[in-house]
Amino acid sequence: MSATRLPGPTALRDAYRAVNDRVAAAADRSGRSAEGVVVVAVTKTASPDQIRSLIEMGHTDLGESRVQQLVQRAAQLDEFLARKRTLGGEDGEPAPTVRWHMIGHLQRNKAKPVVPIVKLIHSVDSLRLAEELQSLGARYDPHVTRPSEVLLQVNTAGEEQKFGLAPAAVAHMAEQVESMIHLKLRGLMCMAPYSDNPEDSRGCFARAAELFEEIKTAGAGGDGFNILSMGMTNDFEVAIEEGANVVRIGRGLFGEDEG
Ligand SMILES: *Cc1c(COP(=O)(O)O)cnc(C)c1O
Repeated sequence: MSATRLPGPTALRDAYRAVNDRVAAAADRSGRSAEGVVVVAVTKTASPDQIRSLIEMGHTDLGESRVQQLVQRAAQLDEFLARKRTLGGEDGEPAPTVRWHMIGHLQRNKAKPVVPIVKLIHSVDSLRLAEELQSLGARYDPHVTRPSEVLLQVNTAGEEQKFGLAPAAVAHMAEQVESMIHLKLRGLMCMAPYSDNPEDSRGCFARAAELFEEIKTAGAGGDGFNILSMGMTNDFEVAIEEGANVVRIGRGLFGEDEG
């Protein structure tokens, strides 16, 4: 077999199964069920074919870290799904639904097209960005566009991470976001610095989980504050063991290609 850079449908299916099995095992180790952990498939290295295959396998949650890619891929997929709805339907198969996640650093001046597309923005890391999303939300028709659901990105890794709120600033920020009616605070996100050894991420994740519990106990966000997004291809099992219920996986599904 010649080595293709991007895995085809069979390899993708195998990778998807393997990831799901590892998620289930890690959830089990932490006394939870696999259904309690959502895998966001990060499509930044994926081909359009791979994305469509994954959707046809029943996967729903997709993530992008750049606005332009997000907008482009969401439009492509919309077209594909619309065609499926028109052509399909006779066999009674429900059309797949897709939920997009914005996971990367978001600049205020690029936030506008993101608001109507995504289910969840993982990367709110400043008051100014929150305020921008709030004012963008006010411009959309409330009957069409619901409040933007957001996570606060927290930096529990110190200087090794470029983005994210300082842990000491998170609780106050949570209160401020809670007062914004076009935003809905859903939880926290964190990223550990890349390392070949997943154990290196554990401290970072444990600290984020602690903050998450603190804020939840304080009551910010109410019942809707229930998402802890952490863990990527190299460290998602450790993240789940530390309490993550959303993991963001790219290379582990789609391969290493840079697109
Ligand atoms: C790219 C990216 C991921 C996925 O990383 P992989 O190592 O490919 O699994 C997760 N989260 C964020 C914020 C990313 O930018």
